[in-house]
Amino acid sequence: MKILVVGGAGYIGSICAELLLDQGHEIAVFDNLCEGHRSALDPRARFIEGDLQDRQAIDSALALAQPEAVMHFAASALVSESMRDPSKYFRNNISNGLNLLDAMVAARVQQIVFSSTCAIFGPPERLPIDETAPTRPINPYGESKLAFEKILRWYNEIYGLKFVSLRYFNAAGASANFGEDHRVETHLIPNTLKVALGQKPHVEIFGTDYETPDGTCIRDYIHIVDLARAHILALGAPRSELYNLGTGGGASVRDVIAACRKVTGKKIDTVERPRRPGDPPRLIASSDKIKNELGWQPQFQSLDAIIESAWKWHQKFPNGYGD
Ligand code: UDP
Repeated sequence: MKILVVGGAGYIGSICAELLLDQGHEIAVFDNLCEGHRSALDPRARFIEGDLQDRQAIDSALALAQPEAVMHFAASALVSESMRDPSKYFRNNISNGLNLLDAMVAARVQQIVFSSTCAIFGPPERLPIDETAPTRPINPYGESKLAFEKILRWYNEIYGLKFVSLRYFNAAGASANFGEDHRVETHLIPNTLKVALGQKPHVEIFGTDYETPDGTCIRDYIHIVDLARAHILALGAPRSELYNLGTGGGASVRDVIAACRKVTGKKIDTVERPRRPGDPPRLIASSDKIKNELGWQPQFQSLDAIIESAWKWHQKFPNGYGD
């Protein structure tokens, strides 16, 4: 298929583009390189530099790439930043995303795979979280993604635009070539591995008084390659759907740090800090729906295997993409 990967120079988008190219698809990447990196672009893909604020740039990209489907990864995606700057989240994730949808409708591109998030749920009533769980986000990031899912539903109904929305839990790990490098790193695994690399003196633990067995937040870490494989399956989905995507396993912040110590063989000092605003205590996915309907199966079930792949990438590229 011909696919336009919007945000394909970012962490998740670059690895999806790589997998799609490995499978013989024809890929164009549209990215403004604000969060993404030029060296995260797969050389086999056509690169179109542009911003979703700019409707004309999107129209030109669609005219150039002539895609049959769009994968939409371009978004602001930090819970803590969204609590300080909600406007950025509503603008980038809703208004700019709407430009993409309108351009797709105008160009008659009939399919989109959308990067959503478990942050749409907020603190769950029961675990694991399946697709019937109530959506009550507790941060503007989750709210912005939930609003976009609702918009997708209406564009499907009114214009026949087929969508699959994948609610990622915590994406982690790396492929051999591409990995996680944010200019300001806020994520737990890369921050912990930076300590192992000697680039940071310690990792901070945000909140030790949650109602969890060790007092720290629990998340469901899913390997980036498993996540990318779900996007490829989503292209073949028979109808518009929403799917949760995780492994169903829960690891606390302390579990993650312990696993990083085990995998790297390094000491890794920690400092305990207050809670980070907007963090729900526990998020664990039920992915039964995507398993049953699209035949998805995660290949990396263990946290150690996920961290090993990230550690390999960080050792190979200690300065990330270097820009
Ligand atoms: N966290 C932490 N120290 C860090 C980064 C994150 O304790 O340096 C915690 C964070 O508060 C959350 C969990 O680790 O409970 C996962 O955070 P991350 O930012 O990796 O992903 P999120 O769940 O926010 O998408």
